[in-house]
Amino acid sequence: MAKQPKYVYFFGGKKAEGKAEMKALLGGKGANLAEMVNIGLPVPAGFTITTEVCTYYYENKKKYPKQLQADVLAAMKKVEAVMGAKFGDPQNPLLVSVRSGARASMPGMMDTILNLGLNDVTVEGLIKKTNNPRFAYDSYRRFVQMYGDVVLGLKPVDKHDEDPFEVILHKKKEKHGFKLDTELTAEHLKELVAEFKAAIKEHTGNEFPNDPMEQLWGAIGAVFGSWMNERAIVYRKLNDIPASWGTAVNVQSMVFGNMGEDSGTGVAFTRDAASGENVFYGEYLFNAQGEDVVAGTRTPHPISELAKENPKIYKELDKIRKILEKHYKDMMDIEFTIQQGKLWMLQCRVGKRTGFAAVKMAVDMVKEKLIEKEEAIRRIEPNQLNQLLRPIFDINEKRKAIDEGRLLAKGLNAGPGAASGRIALSAQDAEEMAAQGDPVILVRIETSPEDIKGMNASEGILTARGGMTSHAALVARQMGKVCVAGCGSLKINYKEGKIEVEGKDIVLKEGDYISIDGSTGEVIAGKIETKPSEVIQVLIDKTLSPKESSIYQTYESLMKWADSFRRLRIRTNADQPDQALNAIAFGAEGIGLCRTEHMFFGGDRILSVRKMIVSDTLEDRKAALAELLPLQREDFYGIFKAMKGYPVTIRTLDPPLHEFLPHSEREIRELAISLNIPEEKLVAKINSLHEFNPMLGFRGCRLGTLYPEITEMQARAIIEAACDVAAEGIKVKPEIMIPLVSDLNEFKLQEAIVRRVADEVFKEKGRKVSYLVGTMIELPRACVTADQIAKGAEFFSFGTNDLTQTTFGLSRDDSGKFLPMYVQEEILPTDPFEAIDRSGVGELMKIGTQKGRSTRPDLKVGICGEHGGEPSSVEFCHLLGLNYVSCSPFRVPIARLAAARAVVSQNNTVKKSVKKTAAKKKK
Ligand code: ADP
Ligand code: MG
Ligand code: MG
Repeated sequence: MAKQPKYVYFFGGKKAEGKAEMKALLGGKGANLAEMVNIGLPVPAGFTITTEVCTYYYENKKKYPKQLQADVLAAMKKVEAVMGAKFGDPQNPLLVSVRSGARASMPGMMDTILNLGLNDVTVEGLIKKTNNPRFAYDSYRRFVQMYGDVVLGLKPVDKHDEDPFEVILHKKKEKHGFKLDTELTAEHLKELVAEFKAAIKEHTGNEFPNDPMEQLWGAIGAVFGSWMNERAIVYRKLNDIPASWGTAVNVQSMVFGNMGEDSGTGVAFTRDAASGENVFYGEYLFNAQGEDVVAGTRTPHPISELAKENPKIYKELDKIRKILEKHYKDMMDIEFTIQQGKLWMLQCRVGKRTGFAAVKMAVDMVKEKLIEKEEAIRRIEPNQLNQLLRPIFDINEKRKAIDEGRLLAKGLNAGPGAASGRIALSAQDAEEMAAQGDPVILVRIETSPEDIKGMNASEGILTARGGMTSHAALVARQMGKVCVAGCGSLKINYKEGKIEVEGKDIVLKEGDYISIDGSTGEVIAGKIETKPSEVIQVLIDKTLSPKESSIYQTYESLMKWADSFRRLRIRTNADQPDQALNAIAFGAEGIGLCRTEHMFFGGDRILSVRKMIVSDTLEDRKAALAELLPLQREDFYGIFKAMKGYPVTIRTLDPPLHEFLPHSEREIRELAISLNIPEEKLVAKINSLHEFNPMLGFRGCRLGTLYPEITEMQARAIIEAACDVAAEGIKVKPEIMIPLVSDLNEFKLQEAIVRRVADEVFKEKGRKVSYLVGTMIELPRACVTADQIAKGAEFFSFGTNDLTQTTFGLSRDDSGKFLPMYVQEEILPTDPFEAIDRSGVGELMKIGTQKGRSTRPDLKVGICGEHGGEPSSVEFCHLLGLNYVSCSPFRVPIARLAAARAVVSQNNTVKKSVKKTAAKKKK
């Protein structure tokens, strides 16, 4: 008989059946609860029902595996034994919470039910046990409320509707003239329990179950059910979590933070999740339970205050903080509860962090010898580096704004960076306004998971309520948004679409500009210009010295390590000396693509270009090209000089010629006058250049084939500039690249021109420079005949934009109508213009590389398409064994890190497979 899978894992006492590595089966929460038990931390006992049960449930018409019931009962017995209480017992009742927990954390996506096991009988037992009727009825009241909402479905109908339970609660307080929940007595709470149950029955038709076992199965079903609720589905989509993973269910004995002033509950990060600083960071509330801290209904106290208020507990917590960091070797996010002076751990997981903090913590942890450099590299998503490069407010502009009295308020600095935009008061409005192209700041009393899309569309998020661990703060950090949370002096009025500020004479309306500084928490009326980050100030603007910026120093350490791992070289796409200099500052090691046509638009050049295009005779064309020659030479001279001996790949003219011609009547008339030709003639010429499909038309090397004099002029400009720079004692490495080659013969024609001109120039100048002639590989035919082409070409550079267009047979410029839908509907996994389509375009690249190197083993191969700065494409290029990637200057740091990560993750896979084979051999 096949062994039955194990569906239920116990944790508690000193030993758990699970461990941290079992996240796929136990979910993150369950696996880490088990791990904490195993390392000796105080965790209330419980058990985890595996994600396999969730999968089973959805594959079997929402039924459970047969043995589950018995397994749950058996696990409950163990919990009872450890906790010394019995589930459903009238004298000594055990209460539990039912908590969801998927493999990847999905904050607030599914609801937790607390205090389960209470009914009119067990509540009496709880009273006797605690001698505290008010506490017992408060717990009961909370339980009925949560269960009524999550399991029995009594909740607000839409965003304007109020929570039906809160309405009843409010009425009760009003009737007795109370302001706070805490003023309600046991008797009032008892009444509320009955009123809640009646409301559930009235509005949903559901009877509140009194039997604790029935309650338990109802809650388990609700957790599995919530896996497919809309919030969860949206969150999974946004975070690439497959539905097939399923969620686990954790059933855990309750501990109570609401047992009086020696009890409390809190959440904390072992380091500051916003700045990365190595300080204990968190919040807590005395006499509170569960979500009170995160919900933002009461403003919690910073954890540093606990050190004063309860030094003993603080010390214990701080010790646990150190144990956890040492054990997990990472910053952890923890949830804890204090029951009558005793500390209990309820959750831990690797903490979410800003890109800012991610970099700082990884670098610090290497310096603290907690992790290796390799691990530091692995931990940082390349795109997180963007946050270090992100704008901050111009300090003078900001000061001016403050001097003008525009500082409205100060909230919590929950997500760093600076943002300025128009106020949107609902997530939906934020989405709509952003779609209009306006920068948006989403301003809410507090946010909830329904707001995710609107948050995503906004530049920044501002809330009036909630702490550093509120929903707004967590999600904003994850998305890399600027966020100011808990700004209590804002009085937000959704109905009237306005915001008032306590103690100020200012009213802001929806659509007005507002500015928020997520690094300081300041909220300022009106627009403020933003300015470059410290890294940019050091590297690019050179307005800050490296010594003055610790952010820069951290960045620099990380990038140095990345460079020591990566094998791929990083180049940049740059057409001007200033761009090239920026790229070098960011660590570029050459230019992978210099587009000569971009130079054609500057100053008066376009006139000479147009003259060249409309020429009827070779002589006229040569005359026009002669005007361009000195200008192009000057451009190349500047670039070579800036690149100080780094290789520079220059592509000969590529785009269809009509792109250079005017289209409006007025412009055509003006051009006719300055060229001194009849307007009709010019119009006829322009019309003759019209193409049905310019992308596949008269462009690339086809231009130079028909008009060799163009290539001639460009080759001369390049080689002359190279000789001039070499004459100054500066190294130069020109690489001349022929675009859109589909056959060796095309390449040879262009190569012959380049070499002939080069020899002429060398003779004239009495000096030689070494140079290469290679080609772009951007057509499928070039890939499959690459062994032929490599007979001539000294290097290859994949032009993955055109290669993607021609492989899919779709024009990028026309793909806007349907490609987004393809991605949305998962017809294609991602937009192939964003990340290389590995199985199609990538396969052609592989063929091209292999065939090219079969002819020329040391063939240098790179990529210069837009993909060169996209992390997964960079990884792919590494795996293909390319020599370099080339990307825009500001993406160079991202490409450097991505290239290092490709090595690190490859090492990891190798290590793993070695282990596997070794294990197999042992068997
Ligand atoms: P989430 O996944 O949304 O964080 P949790 O399952 O962690 O939900 O539950 C939310 C909160 O409920 C916890 O932070 C904790 O304060 C409280 N809670 C959950 N289980 C228990 C328990 N067994 N005893 C006391 N409090 C609990
Ligand atoms: Mg929750
Ligand atoms: Mg939690």
